[in-house]
Amino acid sequence: MRIELRVCYHCLRGEHENEHKTAVTRDLVACAEVVKEYKDVIDLDDVHIRKVKEEEGDDGRPAALPAVAATIQNEGVAVSDTQLVTMGENGYMLVYPNPQDALKVLAGNIDEISKVIGDNILPDLSPEGAEILSGAPLGGGPEAEHGGGPGAGPGAGGPTQGQPDADGSMDGGPGTQ
Ligand SMILES: [Zn+2]
Repeated sequence: MRIELRVCYHCLRGEHENEHKTAVTRDLVACAEVVKEYKDVIDLDDVHIRKVKEEEGDDGRPAALPAVAATIQNEGVAVSDTQLVTMGENGYMLVYPNPQDALKVLAGNIDEISKVIGDNILPDLSPEGAEILSGAPLGGGPEAEHGGGPGAGPGAGGPTQGQPDADGSMDGGPGTQ
């Protein structure tokens, strides 16, 4: 499997004044770096960490896996600056445009590596990241069909708890169900 994590370089550096997103972005990169370091342990072919900058010469294009998540905002296409893309042996690509899901997938890989090497190598996470990992299971995604996918523990497939929206705003809770 190949993995590409794409994050906003400026959120990573705290320049976009979104503390929650900065915390989660740093956790994503920290986890991806661990997975990259130990990728041979679980037979990953490649782990790529792409930091997208808002400047000329960086059009946000993918580095390793050619898939980009987008949304329509103000009637225009907005490319999601944070996403995780994986490609399995079968050639299917999975795009996780939600940072919470991306973190769970990476943490799932770290969990697998930890079991193989007999040592817990999950990096220290922010309170925000720790909360995500202790929260609702991934559930319902294509990974779930394979059984041993990241996050597909005993709780997978259970009721999904209210999740913050993709950009991580925590206020208000789920208004629409
Ligand atoms: Zn940003």
